[in-house]
Amino acid sequence: MSDRAVPDPSPASAPFWEATRDRRLVLQWCTDCDQPVQYPRSFCPRCHGSCLDWREASGQGVVHAATVEHRPERMGETEHYAVVLVDLDEGARLMANLVGCEPGEVHVGAPVQVTWEPLEDGRQLPLFELRRG
Ligand SMILES: [Zn+2]
Repeated sequence: MSDRAVPDPSPASAPFWEATRDRRLVLQWCTDCDQPVQYPRSFCPRCHGSCLDWREASGQGVVHAATVEHRPERMGETEHYAVVLVDLDEGARLMANLVGCEPGEVHVGAPVQVTWEPLEDGRQLPLFELRRG
C-alpha cells in the first residue's frame, strides 16, 4: 500500500481519480481547440470554452525535468527518489514520482511510462518508470 500523500480530488479532477481505479490515465480535453487541459478545471485556459471531455492517454511520455529528493528513512538510511515532470505523448505535462530506478538514471528526455500504486480506497496513484530497451 502506498504511504504517499494524495491530494483530495477537486470536483474538476474527480473523473481523473475515478479512472485510476481501472488503471486508466485520462486527460481532460478541450473539444473546441482539440488540446489537453492540464490540470483539470471547468474551462479551457486557451479558448475559455467549456466543452471539456475526458480521453484516455497512452501513459507514455518523456522526462521534461527531474528533481531528486532525499527522504529520511526510519532505519537511519536516506531514501532517494525522483520527482519528474513528464511530457505525455498527448501533449499534457504531469508531475509524479519516478520509481524503479536509481536517481542517477534519470535524465531529461528519458522515455517513461505510467505505472500504478494501489491506494487504500481502491484508487491508484499514477507513478512513472523508465521505459527500457
Ligand atoms: Zn479550448
